[in-house]
Amino acid sequence: LATGDALELEGVTRTFGALRAIEDVSFSVAAGERRAVIGANGAGKTTLFNVVTGDFPATAGRVRFFGEDITEVPAYDRIRMGLRRTYQSSLLFRNLTVWDNLFLAVRGVARGRFDFRRARGAHPSRAATDELLERVRLQSVAQRLVSSLSHGQQRQLEIGMALAGAPRLILFDEPAAGLSPAERRELVTLLGALPEHMGFILIEHDLEIALRVVDRVTVMHNGRVLKHGTPQEIENDAEVAAIYMGGG
Ligand code: ATP
Repeated sequence: LATGDALELEGVTRTFGALRAIEDVSFSVAAGERRAVIGANGAGKTTLFNVVTGDFPATAGRVRFFGEDITEVPAYDRIRMGLRRTYQSSLLFRNLTVWDNLFLAVRGVARGRFDFRRARGAHPSRAATDELLERVRLQSVAQRLVSSLSHGQQRQLEIGMALAGAPRLILFDEPAAGLSPAERRELVTLLGALPEHMGFILIEHDLEIALRVVDRVTVMHNGRVLKHGTPQEIENDAEVAAIYMGGG
C-alpha cells in the first residue's frame, strides 16, 4: 500500500481577472485517505479540482502528487499518473451502452490512445470492464443505452469511468447532486465499498453524505480553507453551521 501524501497543495491561488477564486490554499491528503471538501456556492471547490487536475493552471503555488511536483504537468499526463476526476456535467457517450462506455474508459479512449486493431479480442480489457460494471453495481443495465438510464445510474457510470485503469486518487465533483434519496443511498454504498486503499476527494454539499463516507472534511469559504476536521467535528462546529445557515 502507498504511504505518505497522495496530494499536497502549497499556497495555491487561482485568479480570474480580479476575482480570487481560490487563495493561498495549503493542505495535504494522505495516500488512501477519503476527504470531503464542503463550502457554499462559489467557495472555490470546483476551481480547486481544476487546479489539481490541470484543467486550469494555478496562478501561484505548488501541487504535488505522491511526492512529485505536477504544477506544470499537463492534464493528460496527470491522468496517466493515476489522477482521475468526475465533472458536474456528464461526459458519457449517450448513444452507446453502459458496457461500451466502460470498455472505452478501460481502453483509454478518453486519453486519445484507442487503437481499434489492438482492441480486437482484447480479453483483459473485457474482464476489467466486467469488473468495473460490478463495482458500480450496474450489471443489470449493462446492455442499455446510456440515454435510457436514470440520473442516478448515469452518476454511477461516471464513477465507473473514473475508476478505470488503476487510479491512485479520484476527485468526485458533487456526485450526489440531483439524486433522489434512494439514489443517494446507492451512491453511499458504492463509495463505501471501494477498495480500502483507493483514496478520493469528494465535493459534497450534503453533510450527511460526506459524514458517512469520508475520514476528514475540509471546509472552504470565499476561496480559502476555513478549517479541517473529522466529520463529527465539522458537524458540530458553530462557525461551519453559521456559514451554511447564512449562505456564506
Ligand atoms: P459551486 O458549489 O457552485 O460549484 P464552487 O465552490 O465549486 O461552487 P467555484 O466554481 O470554484 O466554486 O467558483 C469560485 C469562484 O470562481 C466563483 O466566484 C466563480 O464565479 C469563479 N469562477 C470559477 N470558474 C471561473 C471561470 N472559468 N471564469 C471566471 N470565473 C470563474
